[in-house]
Amino acid sequence: MLELVETAREDAVVGHLGPDLLDPAFDRDEALRRLGSDPHPEIGQALLDQRNLAGIGNLYKAESLFLRRTSPWTPVAEVDDLGALVDTARRLLDANKAHAAQTTTGDPRAGRNHYVFERSRRPCLRCGTPVASAMQGVAPYDRITYWCPTCQPGPAPAPGSPERSAVRRQRAPRTTY
Ligand SMILES: [Zn+2]
Repeated sequence: MLELVETAREDAVVGHLGPDLLDPAFDRDEALRRLGSDPHPEIGQALLDQRNLAGIGNLYKAESLFLRRTSPWTPVAEVDDLGALVDTARRLLDANKAHAAQTTTGDPRAGRNHYVFERSRRPCLRCGTPVASAMQGVAPYDRITYWCPTCQPGPAPAPGSPERSAVRRQRAPRTTY
């Protein structure tokens, strides 16, 4: 979405956004305050809510949660270390900000460039378990989520549940951010 506004009116467009993860003066305390202000949402959804913190898309959500061994369905209040999770997302975004081909593993090769994102049913790069995927959130704002059930234990929709089946019916977009 593109909106052209006078500088004095910028706040009307972006004033509701949380701290920008790529801002050199990123306000980590404020991001954590906003993320933690509601303990109930699933962390996979809370990370995408740009009112909490701005910059995490679907790819960095999935990859940050994998690296922190956290299920996307974990309620915010039960996340082991929110600060470390935010730091991980910020590090991944920063490492990828200057080039178009994004990698979270350090390996640029297709199929090896992400741990779980767009790797549904392929072996986890860490443990070999097939990567799971499911829709998370309420339509039309639901997004596909990828995770390793072994590396990221915790709450998740059961295999064969409507959420899991929805993913098989609805083809995932080739690339989403
Ligand atoms: Zn794994």
